[in-house]
Amino acid sequence: MTDTPLDFGDPEDLERLRHDFRAWLAGHPLPERPADEPLPVFLHRWHRQLHSGGWVGLDVPEQYGGRGLTALHQVTVSDELGARGAPGVPRIGYLAHALLRFGSEEQRRRLLPRMLSGDDVWCQGFSEPGAGSDLAGMSTYAERRPEGHYIVNGQKLWTSYAQYSGLCLLLARTDRAAPAHTSISAFLLPLDRPGVTVRPLRAANGDDEFCELFLDDVRLEEFERIGAEGDGWPLAMTTVAYERNALDTGHLSKYGLLIERLRRAAHERRGTLPDGLLSDIGRCAVDYQVLVAHARRRTAERLAGQSAGPESSVDKLLMTRAEQRLYETALKVFPEELYGEGGEVLGDYFYSRAASVYGGTSQIQRNIIAKRLLGLPVGPRA
Ligand SMILES: Cc1cc2nc3c(=O)[nH]c(=O)nc-3n(C[C@H](O)[C@H](O)[C@H](O)COP(=O)(O)OP(=O)(O)OC[C@H]3O[C@@H](n4cnc5c(N)ncnc54)[C@H](O)[C@@H]3O)c2cc1C
Repeated sequence: MTDTPLDFGDPEDLERLRHDFRAWLAGHPLPERPADEPLPVFLHRWHRQLHSGGWVGLDVPEQYGGRGLTALHQVTVSDELGARGAPGVPRIGYLAHALLRFGSEEQRRRLLPRMLSGDDVWCQGFSEPGAGSDLAGMSTYAERRPEGHYIVNGQKLWTSYAQYSGLCLLLARTDRAAPAHTSISAFLLPLDRPGVTVRPLRAANGDDEFCELFLDDVRLEEFERIGAEGDGWPLAMTTVAYERNALDTGHLSKYGLLIERLRRAAHERRGTLPDGLLSDIGRCAVDYQVLVAHARRRTAERLAGQSAGPESSVDKLLMTRAEQRLYETALKVFPEELYGEGGEVLGDYFYSRAASVYGGTSQIQRNIIAKRLLGLPVGPRA
């Protein structure tokens, strides 16, 4: 693991940005969400509103539709949103980084501005029924035809919000003979292409976040491939490393708000909360401080020009533990959430259970830490 000094750049510059953002937020409050509006639709409206003020893609170069500032400026905006309990900036940073690194100049200029503005909504087509943790074992196949285009067949699973998306970052095998890690390519799949079927799945909590994606003789052109043939594996690893990174401080500020609420409840109900629960609140506060330190460290690394890598697995494990402990504790302190109508804490509690699965399971993060950070000898399954 690297040891980058914590350098947070010019505080005056950031103070100015924070001030400008607060002023903008005062004139552009969070829009109302009608009871029947699906969450992704509401978040998309919020995304567009933030973009209209220039608050999306602050660290993306200007020629690709961003503001050409730094990760620290983006973090500052995220932090302000989280501290207000507002939804964060749209979670597209990891897709943008994959495009910045692997896309051609033409793809970056064409796709990034529309991604940042919300004109194009993307989803991520990596997992399959037989390939989640073992992503390299995917079987979706893009056969290259002599004319130069590809014909794709296969199935993707758990594709979040594909039914609200127009484009999918798709991984498919392009060579059946080569080793798995060099035989996967990445494509930009328009979801209205003939042969694509998107079928939403209803989860136990009533949400239809997940989708199945069926691909039957779908034609993709060569210019729709992102990177070279065989670049799909490093592209996927870049994407998930950014996805697992602790850089987005918006959710940390949200944890901070809940910890403060727990602290107040402990004071108000002095003597009635069991000691075990008070210790749990203390542990949540410690988890939070550790995560904040990690977010600072990742920000400093990014400012030093370092890309996200396997150390993101440490962040993902810490975040999972912190989030699950926090919402479990909150439900014990506020049992009315569980037995009453069920508010935000209950919804967040349910979603926190998925944290040890999405973006790669906790077991897989431990394997990555063992293998790539600690260099431990590993068995054939890892
Ligand atoms: C909320 C949510 C959103 C998601 N969104 C998307 C999305 O948008 N796009 C997408 O492509 N995917 C998405 N996923 C899928 C997610 O990436 C996979 O669920 C995850 O990678 C695990 O794969 P799996 O479900 O097939 O489980 P499996 O890989 O079948 O794993 C089952 C169990 O075996 C364990 N295991 C497997 N292999 C090993 C090993 N080598 N060592 C130790 N333990 C092992 C796992 O840890 C797990 O406990 C999402 C998942 C969730 C929960």
